[in-house]
Amino acid sequence: MEMMPVKIVLLGPPGAGKGTQAKSISNRYSIPHISTGDIFRKNISEETPLGIEAKTYIDNGQLVPDEVTINMVKDRLTWEDCKNGYLLDGFPRTVAQAEALQEFLAGRNESLDTALCIEVPSDFILERMTGRRVCLSCGASYHVKFNPPAVDGVCDLCGDNIIQRKDDVEETVKERLDVYERQTQPLIDFYKGKNLLSTVDGTKAINEVFEGICEILGSVN
Ligand code: ADP
Ligand code: ADP
Ligand code: ZN
Repeated sequence: MEMMPVKIVLLGPPGAGKGTQAKSISNRYSIPHISTGDIFRKNISEETPLGIEAKTYIDNGQLVPDEVTINMVKDRLTWEDCKNGYLLDGFPRTVAQAEALQEFLAGRNESLDTALCIEVPSDFILERMTGRRVCLSCGASYHVKFNPPAVDGVCDLCGDNIIQRKDDVEETVKERLDVYERQTQPLIDFYKGKNLLSTVDGTKAINEVFEGICEILGSVN
């Protein structure tokens, strides 16, 4: 039987559609969707020490410090459900994080199957981000125009209320795009250099992007 790629890193600017596609990939390949943003937001709503530490950075569109983020992800990757692989969404976001992940994998004799970049030019981003609505319970992502829920204000997947994230306002989105260009974009060359980069056109409709992703995942590994 053909080997399925199971350890995937999703790359792309904020608003590229990583979270949206991650839900579908996670279903199709039966691997956990690990979103560092979702983990931080859950900790913030539960007012854990981690949440309290992360909140100021997130609200200002800055990255949470590497050390905190790396330790959190390393811990998550040792859970039982990661045995057959996982999909990382929003991690790594810095070269230091990418190196820490490589080291973690090497120490376990494992490797990534691919770093999949969802490419979307910056002129699409602002409209996607300011129109985004999310479910804090299950992490589902909607858009007022491009992907509205069936019932206004209610999550299709779990029935909870959907909200606008505090960091999805224009000023913070601009800051996050800046942070992306400075700190995360270099990861594209990082993974290219390791022959792990694959790319998909993220400007198409949500289902078409997913088809493109499935083609790539069928051909790597
Ligand atoms: P990311 O996790 O990369 O920040 P999301 O998956 O949350 O991005 O998507 C950002 C916003 O854009 C959401 O409102 C989502 O519904 C919308 N979106 C995602 N993919 C597409 C697409 N292919 N076309 C139009 N809108 C999209
Ligand atoms: P988006 O998909 O819209 O870019 P995320 O939900 O992935 O947003 O992340 C929201 C915020 O959480 C980021 O702006 C950042 O403050 C923090 N964050 C998420 N992942 C990381 C990471 N790997 N390193 C540092 N900060 C992170
Ligand atoms: Zn939900």
